[in-house]
Amino acid sequence: MTNVGKMTEWLVNPSHVKRYQEGYPLITKDAIASGLGTASEGDIVHLVDGAHRFIAKAYYGKQNKGIGWVLTNNQQTRLDAAFFQATIQKAINNRSSFYQSNHTNAFRVFNGEGDGIGGLTIDYFAGYYLINWYSIGVYTYKTYIIQALETLVDFHAIYEKKRFQQKGAYMGDDDFVTGTRGEFPLIIKENGMNYAVDLNDGAMCGIFLDQRNVRKVIRDTYANGKHVLNTFSYTGAFSVAASVGGAIQTTSVDLAKRSLPKTIEQFSVNGIDFEAQHIHVMDVFEYFKYARRKKLSFDMVILDPPSFARSKKYTFSVAKDYTKLVTEALSVTAEKGVIVASTNNATLSMKKFKGMLDKGFQETKIPYRILEEYTLPEDFRVDKRFAQGNYLKVVIIQAK
Ligand code: SAH
Repeated sequence: MTNVGKMTEWLVNPSHVKRYQEGYPLITKDAIASGLGTASEGDIVHLVDGAHRFIAKAYYGKQNKGIGWVLTNNQQTRLDAAFFQATIQKAINNRSSFYQSNHTNAFRVFNGEGDGIGGLTIDYFAGYYLINWYSIGVYTYKTYIIQALETLVDFHAIYEKKRFQQKGAYMGDDDFVTGTRGEFPLIIKENGMNYAVDLNDGAMCGIFLDQRNVRKVIRDTYANGKHVLNTFSYTGAFSVAASVGGAIQTTSVDLAKRSLPKTIEQFSVNGIDFEAQHIHVMDVFEYFKYARRKKLSFDMVILDPPSFARSKKYTFSVAKDYTKLVTEALSVTAEKGVIVASTNNATLSMKKFKGMLDKGFQETKIPYRILEEYTLPEDFRVDKRFAQGNYLKVVIIQAK
């Protein structure tokens, strides 16, 4: 591959020129006055101002967020194999403490625009690499990126998720790229806990690495001697952390049928008797009703919903319904209980999120105190000029 894509000029609207001069990485449709018509995804585009002065080089790739990402503000930089290798090398060097860790062997190696190439993430799982491609555009650079990994690191195999088919939905039947195929589940270590992952089983792999620090603090600080309710529990990763941390009992609730075998598996690989835990395959809002009927109460309730979800009975969107989620959770929370409220909604600021949490407490007239806040962990590097990239917000709250 010598020359990926052709070069196109995009004229930036005057009101957006400054922000791109200052290094803002995401190209949004409204920022471009002309040039869009002739480009195809993967093309290198030059952003220029009204006088055709160079601002930045970017690639064209359509995602839900925008239509491309700036790769450099330096006109001399060539976007060739060496560029991709150097950019990935820098990201790898930045994670040296993770590579050397004895207690953790799963982490993010490359975090999109935070590491210089938006639309691309690379995760490491115990000797395996998992690449997420978020657009057809970035996927056109696959050869460069695979080559860079082959040159820079040792691995058993590389897997990939193509997240660009129809509205970000995942598509693919075999995600293997190169190397020696893994045997799944693969057991990774995170702060000494075990988690089962499968890199070739649909869009998700069994664990969300961005919650590492939250799992740790739940285990180390909040779980001991507690009854814990974990809602939207997926594979029960928070329940495992709570249980390892000395929780009396955990209750995991998720609507997806496969959450049951997956949660059993996560407990089992940590030597925890899953039969001593509760795992419910059901809608969390139904569960809250059930728990109230049974007069159940929990010392800690974990809320980690998807930004948007539709079940048979309810549509849930973080932006509209988080306050309600809090009031529901408080209805089954013991006195002085702890709520772990999380969202990965990039468009919701921490301030707004806290406002929604506050409203939930106000409505139930329960005073509270914020104990801690978390955003993305350090391997999920964020570009300071793109605050949206720090999508994770977790607030740990104590009811008073
Ligand atoms: N907290 C999890 C990740 C949650 S992912 C972790 O730390 O690993 C979001 C999960 O919410 C998915 O597993 C999905 O099946 C579940 N879900 C979505 N809507 C739901 C609902 N109404 N009730 C219960 N689970 C729901």
